[in-house]
Amino acid sequence: MIPIPKHLLVLVFLCLAGSSTLKSQQKELSTYQDLSAFYYKKQMDSLKKTWVCPSVYKERLTQKQFKEIWDGRTTFFTAAINDNNYVYDKEICAYLDDVVSEIQEANREYLPVKPLVVLDRSSSVNAYALGSNILAINLGLLSFAKTREEIALTIAHELSHNILQHPEHGMKERAEWLTSTEYKESMGQVLQSDYGRLTRLKKVYESYSFSRGRHQRYHEGDADSMAIVLLKNSHISFIPEFFLRMDSADVQYSQPLRQPLNTYFAAYNITLEDSWIKKRSRGLSTRDYDFQKNHSMADSLKTHPDCVVRYNNTTGRRSANAVSTPVPAYISTRVNRMLIWNMYCNSDLTPCLYRILQEKDKGNTDAWYDFMFNNVMLSLYKADKDLHRSSTIDIQRKEYISKQYYELQTMLEQIPRDKLAEDCKLLQGAAFWNNVSASEKAMQRFQKALILSDNMEVYASQQMAKHFMESNQTSLYCEYVHSFEKK
Ligand SMILES: [Zn+2]
Repeated sequence: MIPIPKHLLVLVFLCLAGSSTLKSQQKELSTYQDLSAFYYKKQMDSLKKTWVCPSVYKERLTQKQFKEIWDGRTTFFTAAINDNNYVYDKEICAYLDDVVSEIQEANREYLPVKPLVVLDRSSSVNAYALGSNILAINLGLLSFAKTREEIALTIAHELSHNILQHPEHGMKERAEWLTSTEYKESMGQVLQSDYGRLTRLKKVYESYSFSRGRHQRYHEGDADSMAIVLLKNSHISFIPEFFLRMDSADVQYSQPLRQPLNTYFAAYNITLEDSWIKKRSRGLSTRDYDFQKNHSMADSLKTHPDCVVRYNNTTGRRSANAVSTPVPAYISTRVNRMLIWNMYCNSDLTPCLYRILQEKDKGNTDAWYDFMFNNVMLSLYKADKDLHRSSTIDIQRKEYISKQYYELQTMLEQIPRDKLAEDCKLLQGAAFWNNVSASEKAMQRFQKALILSDNMEVYASQQMAKHFMESNQTSLYCEYVHSFEKK
C-alpha cells in the first residue's frame, strides 16, 4: 500500500463527509420551490431584458421577420420556465455544473463566460442548445447516460452549437428565407393557382425544410468536431461508442420485465385475472386511439438516424487510453425518481408504472417506489370515476413495446372499477407505509380522503389541498395537490 500524506487524508475525509450528506438527502425529491417557475423567476426577468434582438438587416422586412423569430425563442424559453418544464435539482445541477466548469476552464478562448445549464424534465433522450450561452439537458438523457464522459460529450456538443452560433444562424436563415424573392414568388404562385393550392404550398415548405435539414446535418458534424476539441482540451475522454448506444435510446419500454406481471402485484396481495391481461375482442382497441396525441413516448420513440454516421465520422479521433467514470448512483436515483414523478403528474400512468416495475427488477426495495405504485393505482381509480380512464393509460402500439408493457396497459385498461377500489383500499394498510417520509404520509392522507371517500364535496377537497400546501410547503408533492386547490 502506498502511504497517503496527511493533507490528502483530510481531503478524503471531507469527500466522505460530503458523500454521506448527499446520501441522507437523496430520500427527498427536489423541493416545490426548485421548479423552474419559482427558481428561475429572477433570471427570467433579466433574460427578457438581455435577449434584445440585434439589428442585423438593413432591409426592414427581413429585420422585422428576424425579430419575430428571435422573440419567439424568448417566448419559448420563458413559457417553458413558467410551465415548470425545468427544475433546479441541487445535486443533479451541481454534478452537471462540475462537468461544465471543467470544460469551460480548459476552453476559455471559446467560452469566456460560464454557460447556464438547465435541467429539462422531459423523458426523451435529448439535449438542446438555446443559443446565448444557454443549454438544456433532458432528464431522459441523464437517465440513459452511463458515464460522466457520455454526459460531457453531450454537454460539449451542445456548447459547440452555441459557440458556432448555430441557433442564431438558424434564426437568420429562416428570416432570410421567409423574406426572400424566391419564397415570395412561390407563395405568389400558390395564391394565384386555384387548383392544387395545397399541393403547391406543400412544395414551398418542402423546399424550405429540405435545405434546413441539410444544413442541420452539416451543423451536427461541426458540433461533434468542435465537441471533441473541447473534450481533448479538458482531458476528458472522447468515446465515440456513445453515438452507437444513442441508436438504441428508444428501448426503455421494449425491454422485458424479469417476472410475469402478476408477480409484481402479488407482492401487494393484489391478484390479477388473466382475462384482464389478454386483449378482449370487444371493448377498447388501439384503433380507437389517436396516437398523434400521445406525446409522452412519441418524443422518446424518435429514431436517431445520424448516430451511425456520427460514429463513423468521429471514431478515428477517439481518446487513447480512454477512461470511463460511472454516473454516481445518487445522481441516477434522483434522475429516475424525478422522471417517475413527472410521468405521474402528467397522468402517463403506464410508462410510470412500468418504470417502477423496472426498479423492482433491479432489486430496488426503496419504499418510495411502493408509494408511487400506490399513487398510480389511486389515480387510475380516480380517472375511472371521473370517466377518463383511457386518457391516463397512454396506449402504445404493440411494435414499440415489450410483451409485459402491452399486458400492463391492457390490464390498466380492463381491470374492473370495483376491483380497483378494493385494491386501492388494500394498499392503504400495506407494510411499506412504515418506511416512507412524513410528506409521503401526508400525501397518502390527502389521496385517501380525496379518492377513496365517497361523495367528497369540491369545497372540502379544495380545503384539504389548501391545508396540504400550507403544512408541506417545500414538498414537491404540492405540484400534484396544487391542481385541486383551485378547481
Ligand atoms: Zn446537435
